[in-house]
Amino acid sequence: MSSTPDLTSSVYSQALELIASVEPRIAEATRQELADQRASLKLIASENYASPAVLMTMGTWFSDKYAEGTVGHRFYAGCQNVDTVETLAAEHARELFGAEYAYVQPHSGIDANLVAFWSILAHRVESPALAELGARNVNDLTDEQWETLRRRLGDQRLLGMSLDAGGHLTHGFRPNISGKMFHQQQYGTDPETGLLDYDALAAKAREFKPLVLVAGYSAYPRRVDFAKVREIADEVGATLMVDMAHFAGLVAGKVFTGDEDPVPHAHVVTSTTHKSLRGPRGGIVLATEEYAPSVDRGCPMVLGGPLSHVMAAKAVAFAEARQPAFRTYAQQVADNAQSLAEGFLGRGATLVTGGTDNHLVLLDVSSYGLTGRQAESALLDAGVVTNRNSVPGDPNGAWYTSGIRLGTPALTTRGFGHDEFDAVAELITMVLENTQPGTTKAGGPSKASYVLADGVAAKVKDASAELLDKHPLYPGLELS
Ligand code: PLP
Repeated sequence: MSSTPDLTSSVYSQALELIASVEPRIAEATRQELADQRASLKLIASENYASPAVLMTMGTWFSDKYAEGTVGHRFYAGCQNVDTVETLAAEHARELFGAEYAYVQPHSGIDANLVAFWSILAHRVESPALAELGARNVNDLTDEQWETLRRRLGDQRLLGMSLDAGGHLTHGFRPNISGKMFHQQQYGTDPETGLLDYDALAAKAREFKPLVLVAGYSAYPRRVDFAKVREIADEVGATLMVDMAHFAGLVAGKVFTGDEDPVPHAHVVTSTTHKSLRGPRGGIVLATEEYAPSVDRGCPMVLGGPLSHVMAAKAVAFAEARQPAFRTYAQQVADNAQSLAEGFLGRGATLVTGGTDNHLVLLDVSSYGLTGRQAESALLDAGVVTNRNSVPGDPNGAWYTSGIRLGTPALTTRGFGHDEFDAVAELITMVLENTQPGTTKAGGPSKASYVLADGVAAKVKDASAELLDKHPLYPGLELS
């Protein structure tokens, strides 16, 4: 991470003083959050450290402006500067990903997926129905016509990757709205290898005939052949939507190219902007020209007023990601995941799919006799921040789980390389080998409580501090 000018120190220090004059506890929590982030090994695969330029862009008066609508077509007056911001963010996104169209308004990844789903429904179901009825929009329909169309919109099929295979809850998981608004089925991974089985996916798609085929993942440690998935979608007449929320940084940084780059293959691509892409918290939708007009109706279809300050920060982050340094960063993220995986395998650990070729590693902690929840808690005691995650066919379900998901984007931003990630594998192994499952109050085996051997947490924290001190977070930023 490049050195932060002193200017940042004085700007943040004064900002915190101002905040403290209104609500000192928020200023204190903000200071503490920086201290905690600086002092922990952050391995949450979906987190990163945005640059001071990105962070500061979010803290301006753009936050105060309402701008429902699209560039040049707003439902509020005085949006000329928001138009500039949204135009620049969309331009950068199109250039960065080589997309025909970019929509930068979604507030989050979930919002981006909702925009994508309703855009696909609008394009594939609503527009043809309106044309058949000779109507311009849904307000022109009689109540009876609208009721028929509304039922058709709610009678469509979606096929997505299951949660325990690494998919996201917005990919048709029943408790999520995506699983309720569509008839949904899920595809998984090969039970032997843990790898995506394209033949099984094709067979399921042929049988189910989805309108929407969703690819992409939150916890699958491998690359996907999107050209192959597009062939499957075309064969069954599905729209291919790829959710690249997790690996957008690897796409932007040209680590995933050709068949592994979703943008040339999918009809619609969604993403978050805050994970490997290292921008502000938010979402985007990329689309082909064909789908652009319906995606452009994200507001009012799904969204209200865009977060103009966050769109501005997206523009800054995309501009950063277009610099050559971001390609170096993205390659290092992938190389570091390899180093982490090799570090674990060399110490006898079990990894889902036997390794990784993206930014994340899924460690099966059942070989240490632990649940994911026990492992996550013991690691946190030692200053290692991870999250528990299901593994395919997980006997412990989605709450306790049998896995720990680890990602390299954040620590790579701090400057960690091969040796540091090998050391991280060593420290994590030390914690897990020294943790025993606890018992319930009734004396039975517990899936939550654990006993970490005395002295291990302190030893790991000392060793982490040495690594972290060599790679400070926001170097040069000193709060007064
Ligand atoms: N899609 C995928 C693949 C994700 O991993 C996530 C977040 O974890 C999301 C969507 C949702 O993003 P957000 O938390 O910004 O709504």
